[in-house]
Amino acid sequence: MKKIVTFTVPLFFWFAFVVNADEVRIWTSANGKHKTEAKLVDISKDGKTITLLKADNKEIDVALEKLSKADQAYVNKQQKGKDAKEEGEKEKKNVDQYWDETRERTALAQVARKEEHLERAKQDVQSLQQRALALREQGAAHTSQLKQLYAEKVERIRNCRQCGGTRTIETRERCNDCNATGRSTANCGRCKGSGRTPDHKGVCSSCRGNGADECSLCRGTGTRTVTKHCDCGCTEIDLAGMRIQGELQSVSNALQMNQRALQKAQSTLRRNQSELQRAQNASDQLNQGKK
Ligand SMILES: [Zn+2]
Ligand SMILES: [Zn+2]
Ligand SMILES: [Zn+2]
Repeated sequence: MKKIVTFTVPLFFWFAFVVNADEVRIWTSANGKHKTEAKLVDISKDGKTITLLKADNKEIDVALEKLSKADQAYVNKQQKGKDAKEEGEKEKKNVDQYWDETRERTALAQVARKEEHLERAKQDVQSLQQRALALREQGAAHTSQLKQLYAEKVERIRNCRQCGGTRTIETRERCNDCNATGRSTANCGRCKGSGRTPDHKGVCSSCRGNGADECSLCRGTGTRTVTKHCDCGCTEIDLAGMRIQGELQSVSNALQMNQRALQKAQSTLRRNQSELQRAQNASDQLNQGKK
């Protein structure tokens, strides 16, 4: 639209020139004595000489100063039209060139911007891939630490002097039930605590003269066997293992998050690639249009 509006005026002058140039006119000499019927076909560059085409199809050059004032004014008017036409053509060319250049510049800037985006997306993907690699290495290191700890634990148990690898230690402790006496606190049911036979001549066969039955828990020994779990020095290893497992878990979480970010970055990369392709196609089309 812009172009049409801009060139309405110059085009009008150009139009006027053509019509007037076609028009047959009666030319009069400066002194008014000679008249010639002819068309104006050209004006010299310096504007001092004109070329006329006569009815017999012959062209003649005439110095402008030898023509009447009215003819000179007519030629001047045509000259102005010619100038305006040339000026208009020049201006149209300039504006066309300006728009072409602007479009090319815009397209190239777009390509450059998309290239920049693509480069950034590539870097993002690369750094996330590097981070994934580092996290995997970290995880592998933790895993091998855990394996090492486990091997150490097995070794310690096997060589434990306290349990001999059974992980249990048996000790004898005093029986609290009978207060280490080996006897029940209740009186013997047969002799009612006397320890003697009913006639008091013999020893009670049930409690063998003790007046009370055997402690059922320690079976009269006053001590009992207690089985304990042997640590084999593993507590510190287990704690270290738990700590490493916690770290391994956070590495695994970080890796998952990184993986999601990587997928996102990769899809951004693909999008940027196609956007760059589109920008390049647009730029190529402009270049082809120029040829
Ligand atoms: Zn008894
Ligand atoms: Zn007991
Ligand atoms: Zn042990």
